[in-house]
Amino acid sequence: MMFLFDVIFKDNYFVFLVPFNLMGCIPTRCQLLERYVDCDAHCPLCEDEVEDDVHAFFTCVSAQSSWQAAGLSSVLGSAACQQGSAAERVFALCRNKDYATIGIVATLLWSIWHNRNDKIWNDNVRSPNQIGRAAFDHWNEWVAVHKLRSNDDPDVPLVSTNRWEKPRIGWLKCNVDAAFFVSAGRTAMGACFRNNSGEFMAGIT
Ligand SMILES: [Zn+2]
Repeated sequence: MMFLFDVIFKDNYFVFLVPFNLMGCIPTRCQLLERYVDCDAHCPLCEDEVEDDVHAFFTCVSAQSSWQAAGLSSVLGSAACQQGSAAERVFALCRNKDYATIGIVATLLWSIWHNRNDKIWNDNVRSPNQIGRAAFDHWNEWVAVHKLRSNDDPDVPLVSTNRWEKPRIGWLKCNVDAAFFVSAGRTAMGACFRNNSGEFMAGIT
């Protein structure tokens, strides 16, 4: 997941495309079981329901509280978020909401996933207020950095034309990325392995 939302901090073009393309590949427990990884199917946060990506980001009580804390209750309650896969919901949001709202939603989704992983690997759970606050901080940080970059060099286009390219047949491609949140004193990294069809094979954060 980290690899998914890190892109947001570098290139506003991918705010709209990357979640849609990769949402179905997020290694939720449901997704892991489909790939024959032996694990508990239940959501690690509420421990009540099977964890697929819709549950993790939209319907889990923990996720819903985070949306509320981020001031995005009306967005979560909008028609775009009521049906379809997680990717379809994100895509519908991207079509119907303004740029700033989409940016905060994207960082909120990242914060929700980060919190979920922190619970699994470190038994550390943040409150919905902390998750919502982190979404705002990350978004504002991205906007500030982006503004600085465009001021530094007005010739640098804000929209990149770079596209991910498939590896050769029989090869896997590993994309690695890292994020540095100066104000929080934290760093993070992630890696994503995909085959020559562009299918997700494995990921680490
Ligand atoms: Zn849950």
